[in-house]
Amino acid sequence: MKIKAGLGYDLHRLVPGRKLIIGGVSLPSELGCLAHSDGDVLIHSLIDALLGASGRGDIGQWFPDSDPAYRDISSLELLRRVMVEIRAADLTVINTDSVIVLEKPKLGPYFQAMRANLAPLLGTEPDRIGLKAKTAEGLGEVGSGKAVACWTVALLGYRG
Ligand code: MG
Repeated sequence: MKIKAGLGYDLHRLVPGRKLIIGGVSLPSELGCLAHSDGDVLIHSLIDALLGASGRGDIGQWFPDSDPAYRDISSLELLRRVMVEIRAADLTVINTDSVIVLEKPKLGPYFQAMRANLAPLLGTEPDRIGLKAKTAEGLGEVGSGKAVACWTVALLGYRG
């Protein structure tokens, strides 16, 4: 099996009056992501990693934030649609690995629930979905709690 790698990155502002949804899990937080969709920074970076690895553009091309159809849509649904295309191209997810940078809340207790959401959509085992949380040590916009960022790499396998 041959492999293709993709890298994804996303960042969202954190504002009052929005839910904080990461990996499809609604987290306890006074602030949530300002976004056209549900603002799931993990899934958005994951989608861009998958699209990058498969040579299929980026999330903005697939789901423009100018399109009312995607207003407040669950990013799990966006991921489901991307995976239909990935599978149709005979690509399979070997593994993914993400780093989420956020001051609070602590994410570790929610990783199992995030993996349970993502694994069936990705068609892979939960232990192939790497999730890591970091803080920005109080530095910059992320460090002051005004934003959340996420990086993801994805490996896709294919027979060539
Ligand atoms: Mg985003």
